[in-house]
Amino acid sequence: MLSLFERIGEGSHLSAEEVHQRLLRAEERVSLATVYRSLRLLSSMELLRELELPEGGRRFELASDGHRDHHHLVCVGCGRTEEFESSVVLDEGRQAAGSHGFRLIECVLNVRALCPRCASAEPS
Ligand SMILES: [Zn+2]
Ligand SMILES: [Zn+2]
Repeated sequence: MLSLFERIGEGSHLSAEEVHQRLLRAEERVSLATVYRSLRLLSSMELLRELELPEGGRRFELASDGHRDHHHLVCVGCGRTEEFESSVVLDEGRQAAGSHGFRLIECVLNVRALCPRCASAEPS
């Protein structure tokens, strides 16, 4: 299961259903329930990071050290997810944590938006 994410590489955000479909396409016969269980296990081992995106549902990405501290732009219409980096957000997070005496572990911003396709489909 993890090898699937490694093949796809960093920066992919897949839902359990998408992981399931890709495994089936690769002729690996697993049930969706098994996929859910494996994803949860890999997340608890911190090999995957679980993103909770209000409209995009739960998505998982490879949690590698070289790929931390990035942010997500999420389309509320179709769940399309783009990544971006912002040192400003990181600095703010660090400062907010510091001013409360917290030790920063991770600072991730999820931005809800509409992608161009969904925005043009929206009746105005
Ligand atoms: Zn990401
Ligand atoms: Zn969209």
